[in-house]
Amino acid sequence: MNASPTQDAPGNLFVVAAPSGTGKSSLVKALLELDAKLSLSISHTSRAPRGQEQNGREYWFITEAEFRDKVTHHDFIEWAEVHGNLYGTSRATIESRMAAGEDVVLEIDYQGAMQIKQLFPAAVLIFVLPPSWDELRQRLIRRGDTAEAVIAKRMENAHLEVAQAKHFDFVVINAVFETALFDLKTIVHAQRLKYAAQLRHRSAVFQALSLC
Ligand code: GDP
Ligand code: ADP
Ligand code: 5GP
Repeated sequence: MNASPTQDAPGNLFVVAAPSGTGKSSLVKALLELDAKLSLSISHTSRAPRGQEQNGREYWFITEAEFRDKVTHHDFIEWAEVHGNLYGTSRATIESRMAAGEDVVLEIDYQGAMQIKQLFPAAVLIFVLPPSWDELRQRLIRRGDTAEAVIAKRMENAHLEVAQAKHFDFVVINAVFETALFDLKTIVHAQRLKYAAQLRHRSAVFQALSLC
């Protein structure tokens, strides 16, 4: 869970966190389909693939021993234990994409989000909230997490996770999916309108106005 600070990079870093079942993956997937300039970081995990999950698509699935070896070699820019499994973000992938000016989205838990904020103070932290506890439970059931013990564990964790929302820059409430998606798009758009970003991407205008 440690990493060295990284220099200012031209790309934006967006971190999206939410309790399991809130709709984070569905929202991020839809956001990526709308915005070709955003790319998703595929995490490594020690948990087994679920359902239709494919190695390299949802996650890079590795053993716990392989994971711990990568930790030793500082291959992760952040990592955390979530629901008893290990999850980490590849340092090389993030650094190279950001240096190339890409906007990168991380779908990680709040512990990872806090680590990222330490390393990249300019990272934009977005917390997605469910509209209610009842609705969160319904979404977990609808998704197929039907075992009561699994749901109970996730609901218990969800209470701990939402208490961290206050440390984030933005909160999106996923009641109506399209509204939440619009909110996410707005956050990304606003970030790209910041002075430094505009100066980078619209330098011709700044030059024409003798601003640089
Ligand atoms: P889900 O919660 O049902 O979607 O189950 P997952 O096993 O896919 O993810 C469990 C938790 O781990 C979620 O809160 C994810 O956001 C988080 N997570 C996934 N990848 C990473 C990562 O690279 N780093 C950290 N810190 N958390 C991650
Ligand atoms: P997460 O990645 O946060 O664990 P998912 O994206 O897998 O959550 O979504 C959990 C379930 O809730 C899925 O079945 C998804 O289709 C559904 N869902 C997502 N957003 C909404 C919404 N606004 N209204 C109703 N159902 C939703
Ligand atoms: P993960 O956080 O691992 O990406 O996704 C958690 C769960 O949500 C998995 O069961 C995964 O298959 C499912 N999921 C991922 N993306 C989507 C999506 O866009 N829509 C829906 N309905 N489920 C998704």
